[in-house]
Amino acid sequence: MITITTRQGKDVEIVLESELCSPMDMGERVRAYCHIHGSDHQRSLSINKATGWGHCFNAACGATVLVVEWNRALAKRLLHSHYQGLTSAALPGYAPPSQESRYRQYAFQPMLLPPPRSIPQWQQDELHALCELDGQMRCALVYTRRARMYLSERGIPLKVALATGVGYLPSALLNGPDMRKQRGLLRRWADRIVFPLSSPEGRGYIGRSLWRWQPGMNETTHKVLLERSGSPRRWIKTCPAGWFSAASEDVPRAIILVEGAFDRLTLLAAGFQANDIIALVGTAAPVDWLPAQVKTIVLALDGDEGGQEASNRLAHQLVLAGLQVKLCPPGQDGCGKDWNERWQRMGRKSIASVFETFYEARSA
Ligand SMILES: [Zn+2]
Repeated sequence: MITITTRQGKDVEIVLESELCSPMDMGERVRAYCHIHGSDHQRSLSINKATGWGHCFNAACGATVLVVEWNRALAKRLLHSHYQGLTSAALPGYAPPSQESRYRQYAFQPMLLPPPRSIPQWQQDELHALCELDGQMRCALVYTRRARMYLSERGIPLKVALATGVGYLPSALLNGPDMRKQRGLLRRWADRIVFPLSSPEGRGYIGRSLWRWQPGMNETTHKVLLERSGSPRRWIKTCPAGWFSAASEDVPRAIILVEGAFDRLTLLAAGFQANDIIALVGTAAPVDWLPAQVKTIVLALDGDEGGQEASNRLAHQLVLAGLQVKLCPPGQDGCGKDWNERWQRMGRKSIASVFETFYEARSA
């Protein structure tokens, strides 16, 4: 093990796979006892096999690790810059061992991730404040009539939204006397539907503004309102952000990728399982985030020009990574460019093609 400090001032423990204590393969991640703080009570070290990055969940430790064998190129780069100025004699101890990995092969070559970003303090505080309000935001979605009506007009049952961890942040919640600290941090999140996100860097949130939305107002009208100068941004995210998806441990071998958070809710409302669908919510470079067990992707991005472009680009990347790709764009029939819009207009019929393509992909 070697501790290096990145240029951003973050400590990273560079470890070998053989140094992990009683590692347990959990699918996408490996859990191990943390040899950095020396605990054997809980496997507090959780490492993403595809990226090599891991984190100790013990609050007093919180170590960041990089497993050399799982991201050789990056480990090499970090070690190289660490040793710059020293004699190269310091390096040989860290030549990766050549024995076979104990874990199954990745579905594709892990991509090079940048070292952990140093996230500005206000963004760390913002994310922390949102995490603390997570439960209250979900309650608020239940008790705020206007937020419920918004979901209902987009054709999303409340229980589908709640099951995926969606919440709502009412302005009133921030006006409480014990919210002095959070008020400034979360002002920009007030009056938003809030979706939980996940990524190899941790959890995050994305929020959709309901500013000046009134029952009966359609999406296009509301969008125009939010695009005027001086209006709040339609969507905002934390840092890190990520995908709107189920926990990646039990993602099946065939999955559907959609663009928006409401597209995912739409497919869930139509009866798909939470594990089957990942919403990219504007996050690119997904290949290195996909769990190794995923073999087939149904690309069901938007039908507009941007969606078609993204779909072609992504299909190309996924095929290069050795995945099977099936395209399932919404029909060019003037009934809406995304699944939610079509769902509102045509109901169940609108997603028949997704069902067909997905079941074909699953049985292939
Ligand atoms: Zn630890």
